[in-house]
Amino acid sequence: MALSEDEADAVPLLVSNYHFVDEKNEPISFALLPIQWNKDEGVDGEKKDEMFLYGNMDNGLQRIYKEVVAWKFDLLDAIPEISVCTKDNVWIKLGKPRKSFEETIREVLITVHCLHFTRMNAEASGKSVWEYLSKAFGSLDVGPSRNDLAEHMDLLQEAVKRDESLAKSKFLLSFLGKQPQEGTVFDEDVQNSTTSKFIVDDGDCISENADDDSDEGDELFDTVCAFCDNGGDILCCEGRCMRSFHATVEAGEESFCESLGFTDKEVKAMQIFVCKNCKYEMHQCFACGKLGSSLKSAGVEVVRCANATCGYFYHPHCVAKLLHLEDENAAEELQKQIAAGESFACPIHKCYVCKQGENKKILELQFAVCRRCPTSYHRKCLPREIAFEDDDEDENIITRAWEDLLPNRVLIYCL
Ligand SMILES: [Zn+2]
Ligand SMILES: [Zn+2]
Ligand SMILES: [Zn+2]
Ligand SMILES: [Zn+2]
Ligand SMILES: [Zn+2]
Ligand SMILES: [Zn+2]
Repeated sequence: MALSEDEADAVPLLVSNYHFVDEKNEPISFALLPIQWNKDEGVDGEKKDEMFLYGNMDNGLQRIYKEVVAWKFDLLDAIPEISVCTKDNVWIKLGKPRKSFEETIREVLITVHCLHFTRMNAEASGKSVWEYLSKAFGSLDVGPSRNDLAEHMDLLQEAVKRDESLAKSKFLLSFLGKQPQEGTVFDEDVQNSTTSKFIVDDGDCISENADDDSDEGDELFDTVCAFCDNGGDILCCEGRCMRSFHATVEAGEESFCESLGFTDKEVKAMQIFVCKNCKYEMHQCFACGKLGSSLKSAGVEVVRCANATCGYFYHPHCVAKLLHLEDENAAEELQKQIAAGESFACPIHKCYVCKQGENKKILELQFAVCRRCPTSYHRKCLPREIAFEDDDEDENIITRAWEDLLPNRVLIYCL
């Protein structure tokens, strides 16, 4: 099982269809193991009883059974990662749990996802946090709630103490009672809000019954039209694509948008809007452009990126190739994992040049994202050939970058 540092870097050991049991073979949550907050510190907490991990590795070729002694989570990537450490000191990343085991670890999974989302979206309101968690955990019979987080108050507290970015999260501070004056966010009942109509004004998605959703940077929906890439009065799809559209020809007049072709009256009469792609579960691969089925029962062809704010779909082979441009073996391995149902974060969540993530709070670390292919750059890494509007009077220079269309981001057409 020992791997060299390099190999471990390329394809971390991943276990899927897993579950944990105690000495009596009863299901048990890995969150009861001591946690490792960082490499240099050792583990936090006493190891009590023995715990064992069962699961599949190598895409089902190998069934494993290992005693485990610690766990850790990592929030730095585009999707949260959880790993457990075996008794012989090998870290194994947790993929998808066995379906029947999901309930046993729901609290800790929801808590880690909540930390990940609030870390990236410090301004996020309670409404956005719950909306995100409900989407991420749509497969649970009972949706996520405060009770799940309440099971891990110590973990939340320690995480906020240790991470500056988490300490800025309005939601967490309020949840942990550090800002009692803002405690009202929990009164908003959003778990059942999926039937409300989302209409956009000024490029900001607001639901009809939301009184305060002006927070910037935590939108779950696209702020520009999927047809013409212009903003304005747009309608959000409530399916999985997260796209928005000019609903009427009038709304898209400025950019000569073909629009969805609805009349004002039709838009007003609509309870919710779901685009044709989401309705028929046929989505376009953002890498190769081909249409594929995203319906599980029909044998998925394209899979959605697992990042909370990303609505792009990909063929497993297309996205695996992009994520491992120089390593065919790693790409092949990842393709199999994705095809088997493991989640992935697509390439737009890392800068194409420096491979680092986005930080919306620091101007030069904000992203410029291409609307035509999965490529992003930091402002500081943006090639000079991708020119902003009005950068130069020279008419030979084609504008390829626009401010003010995406919140805290630059919209580009890359080269
Ligand atoms: Zn449009
Ligand atoms: Zn859609
Ligand atoms: Zn493709
Ligand atoms: Zn993505
Ligand atoms: Zn960069
Ligand atoms: Zn591009």
